Amino acid sequence: MRLSEERTDRAAGVLLATATGDALGAGYEFTTPGPDVVIDMIGGGLGSFAPGEWTDDTSMALAIAEVAATGVDIAAGPGLDAVAAQFVRWYESGPTGIGVQTSAVLSKRPASADEMRRIAAVISGRRSGNGSLMRTAPVALAYLGDADGCLRAARAIGLLTHHDERAVEACEMWTYAIRHAVLNGTFDGLLEYLEGASTGARDYWAPLLDRAERGTPADFPNNGWVVDALLTAWWAITTTDATGPEHLQRALEQAVRAGHDTDTTAAIAGGLLGARWGASAVPARWTRMLHGWPGYRAADLERLAVRTARGGDDLEGWSSSPIVD
Ligand SMILES: [Mg+2]
Repeated sequence: MRLSEERTDRAAGVLLATATGDALGAGYEFTTPGPDVVIDMIGGGLGSFAPGEWTDDTSMALAIAEVAATGVDIAAGPGLDAVAAQFVRWYESGPTGIGVQTSAVLSKRPASADEMRRIAAVISGRRSGNGSLMRTAPVALAYLGDADGCLRAARAIGLLTHHDERAVEACEMWTYAIRHAVLNGTFDGLLEYLEGASTGARDYWAPLLDRAERGTPADFPNNGWVVDALLTAWWAITTTDATGPEHLQRALEQAVRAGHDTDTTAAIAGGLLGARWGASAVPARWTRMLHGWPGYRAADLERLAVRTARGGDDLEGWSSSPIVD
């Protein structure tokens, strides 16, 4: 898809802000930082991450983006198989901090998407964990020109590891909202998704989203669960001043302050915030620090995101020179 300069910035922001939220939250996992704590990329946490290093959330998103950036359809067939193979390849790199359910599926080293999905459907793990939602952002970039394809791919890739209807709906809804934000620069996509969703999904999610907008993290404390993870991200986005691009930074810090699974809730929020405000809204201090599997830095994330959004087209020089501080 051909993109305007503004849409290009927003597409680049999707992976960049996912990774920013992830690396910010990594040092606070399973703590609840008080209001006087400055939220920064301090590193540490459960995986002893370096300051600025992203975790499994971003790495799995990159595994998807690497395939999507070739222009192949990742909703089915060889493209979906390639995504499954990238997940296994990442797993074999020995990552720390990998989720329980994802680990249970990938440790069987399934040889195809079909096999991965079948294992995920029968395994007695935590099928409704937040592990499929945390990595779904790049799917939106791959289907900017195709709303139905976006939902199909979000569902198919979610089901590779998390066989749970709420997890699938969460992936569909958030991916749809990210796509909408890249195209239109608003957060309206979440409600637009619900308008087109089944009555069951609408009746379940609409009151919850409403409550998130008016509640506190204590109302959705179990954010290792996909539903509470989405609500935490939505709470962070809707309860911080959204009048300008500083909203991105404020809402990411807010997501971390909610506590518990901080890298994941901030990564989830980051996908949508980056889609709305663009790569240009990510503070340079954080951009400079970012790094992680497979040896990437911020500029690599931006290039990969834009290539994904362009369906594998060449970059025609866009941001192909090294970042100048
Ligand atoms: Mg993580």
